[in-house]
Amino acid sequence: MRTPVIAGNWKMYLTPAEGKAMVQELQTLTAGVTGREIVLCPPFVTLPAVAEAAQESAIGIGGQNMHPANEGAFTGEIAAPMLRACGCTYVILGHSERRQYFGETDAAVAAKTKAALAGQLVPIVCVGETLDEREQGITQAVIEIQLRRALGGLTAAELTGVIVAYEPVWAIGTGRTASPADAQDVCAFIRTVLAALQAEAAPKVRILYGGSVKPDNIRELMAQSDIDGALVGGASLQAASFAKIVRFE
Ligand code: 13P
Repeated sequence: MRTPVIAGNWKMYLTPAEGKAMVQELQTLTAGVTGREIVLCPPFVTLPAVAEAAQESAIGIGGQNMHPANEGAFTGEIAAPMLRACGCTYVILGHSERRQYFGETDAAVAAKTKAALAGQLVPIVCVGETLDEREQGITQAVIEIQLRRALGGLTAAELTGVIVAYEPVWAIGTGRTASPADAQDVCAFIRTVLAALQAEAAPKVRILYGGSVKPDNIRELMAQSDIDGALVGGASLQAASFAKIVRFE
């Protein structure tokens, strides 16, 4: 019922030329793969080159952030219509690196999520606890607050169109993956919170796991009942490793 999503977050890596070469190779390596959405989220300046190279393929393109206004005097920012014009149909919002290094709040994530939906972009809304929060035993409380603040104002139809990514901060770029059982527990909890917000939407929302996803752990993660895909950082930069993750079976 829920089509799996394998999304690559390139973060601040890959120039237009490098991105184009990667996506060309990825197309060859994933030709014939069906039954899932493949998404690449390059840096803004790399978007047009990647979108053009991916035009004839089923690979979807996303931004890594956006401003909630459609245009305006916001130096250094990018708006949803601009992402659309560059070929994007997805956008990552509220990534922990944006929360941690750029002061992004749940209120900002909420405004961006609304604007993304209005702008015909599928928001990939990231939530996750820090190591300190996990050790304090407040993982669920932290995630519930993030979800309620970011998604609490959405209608059932809007929430159905959102993708949630669970990314424990301590697992990002550390090589330390949450165990499939731990990731499943939190993703199942996320679905119960979504159900409290909009009962009919919750079973339809795709929930991704992110944090040191690699070719050798994707299969076990995807076998979990509430994990509908992955948001991949480091291993999405090379076509060979990302293609193996895309072909997880
Ligand atoms: P890594 O896969 O490099 O741990 O990054 C995860 C991530 O932050 C994806 O958004």
